[in-house]
Amino acid sequence: MAEGASKTEFVVGVDIGGTKIYSGVFGSSMECIGTARVSTKAQRGPDAVIERIVRCVHDAVDECDLPFDQVKGVGVGAPGAVDPENGRVIFAPNLDWKDVGLRKTLEKQLGTPVFLGNDCNVCTLGVYETELKRKPKDVVGIFLGTGIGAGLVLNGEIYTGFNRTAGEIGHMVLEVSGPKCSCGNNGCFEALASRTALFRKIHAAVKEGQKTILTDMLGPDLEDLRSGDLRKAIRRGDKFVDHVVEEAAEYTGIAVANIINLLNPEVVVLGGGIIEALEDEMMAIIVETAMEYAMSGTSKGIEIMASKLGDDAGITGGAVLARRGLKAS
Ligand SMILES: [Zn+2]
Repeated sequence: MAEGASKTEFVVGVDIGGTKIYSGVFGSSMECIGTARVSTKAQRGPDAVIERIVRCVHDAVDECDLPFDQVKGVGVGAPGAVDPENGRVIFAPNLDWKDVGLRKTLEKQLGTPVFLGNDCNVCTLGVYETELKRKPKDVVGIFLGTGIGAGLVLNGEIYTGFNRTAGEIGHMVLEVSGPKCSCGNNGCFEALASRTALFRKIHAAVKEGQKTILTDMLGPDLEDLRSGDLRKAIRRGDKFVDHVVEEAAEYTGIAVANIINLLNPEVVVLGGGIIEALEDEMMAIIVETAMEYAMSGTSKGIEIMASKLGDDAGITGGAVLARRGLKAS
């Protein structure tokens, strides 16, 4: 245990994803001192997943040789609609959860206060508190990964909306006659610019004979295709992949313009696996398109930036959520 650690109050941030649970222990100046990962195994049902969350928290704390009683609180970001006041996950399609009393069960099993939020909101809160030097009033975070979601920090607080579903930007329709989305609509942002959408587009084109460096890199079936492979292909001069990514960046820019028109936030932050892998390829196009599409006068002085927190946004935000929750209680 670090010298003087006994005087520090530690919190743990947890990010529950569809495939993995990630946790991190944070000290009083928000430095991360240890992390742990376990697979989610959502198919085993909520009780099994909750057990795995508990294990993941203990693993991270154990990783930094900290006695568990030094952990003062745990902040959890869960995918889907979350009711923070009652500590329930209302529905989470990724986990196949409906109305799960996550907070109560976790508090019982961990013996420490637990604070719950939607994952994109929690990520945005993490960026807001640790990445933005000045504290803007309103920040919107847009996260491009397997799906696309947004987090809203308005007046410095997480905004969840009437049915706790605010931030479902992935299902904002950008092309009425666009590709089918998992939600049943056509042309949702998520069906046009998520990792799933990009990979689907690439696979379909390759099947129809499209030439790309990706097949040299990964074989004809593009087995194990990752976001980073798109970056590598573009840097090796692959015009096809470049075009696919450029198109996704344009759609993202249009979505950002819609957000600017609707909420006029001071800062729009972009994050998630796609941005992490393709920041250099996408950000300039996103900013340019957003400025072009936002109504004249609405985008003046608004900052559109990429988060540097990457995979750690969720655990960082979870820790912030726990700190804020402890302070308020
Ligand atoms: Zn949709």
